[in-house]
Amino acid sequence: MRRIDRRRRERLRRRVVNFGISFALGALAATLLPHRLQRQATSGSIEPLPIATTGAVESSTGAPRAPAVEAATPSMGEAIDVLTSRNLLIPVEGVPATQLRDTFNDSRALRRRHDAIDIMAPRGTEVRAVEDGTIAKLFTSKAGGLTIYQFDPTQAFSYYYAHLDHYVSGLAEHQPVRRGQLLGYVGSTGNASENAPHLHFAIARLGTDRAWWKGDPINPYPLLAK
Ligand SMILES: [Zn+2]
Repeated sequence: MRRIDRRRRERLRRRVVNFGISFALGALAATLLPHRLQRQATSGSIEPLPIATTGAVESSTGAPRAPAVEAATPSMGEAIDVLTSRNLLIPVEGVPATQLRDTFNDSRALRRRHDAIDIMAPRGTEVRAVEDGTIAKLFTSKAGGLTIYQFDPTQAFSYYYAHLDHYVSGLAEHQPVRRGQLLGYVGSTGNASENAPHLHFAIARLGTDRAWWKGDPINPYPLLAK
């Protein structure tokens, strides 16, 4: 009788240990995966990548924080309608709509589609938020150089500003921003030509995970050149 008890206890102990190990592995995978995705998203490309975001928006304490607004992923048609109604600001100071060029479908190195537009402007020209939202991520990559990922107010979209010369002082992740707010300055960081400073600007429809580093590209040209 006592021996059976002992065996049962031993079995139970093993089960608890196994459960503990699988739980720890699961937690580890959940922690590592986003970093791996992020690395994949930024390696090996020449032009800045189509948009992205921390899906799990982290608070300053590092604890996961739920997005402020939960919105279902709109269809592409709905997404374009919504963005049209937002009346996005041309993000480079002093550039009129007539000066914009649609380079969204251009091919770039490695046969990658551009998925963005390049807005040419002298180095140091002000870069401003296209609409209200929050700073999702300040990120430096080989291709994009100094970049900003901004969420729209519903966290359904992200706006990506790349090749910046520098950020406006005090700019921080999770900071709310208003349409027209100064974010940084045009430059040629990353893979932009030194002689042709410009803002590489992209828009992405985010998935329900609100991951700043991925999304479906939307052509900014018709939304800005209206
Ligand atoms: Zn570009």
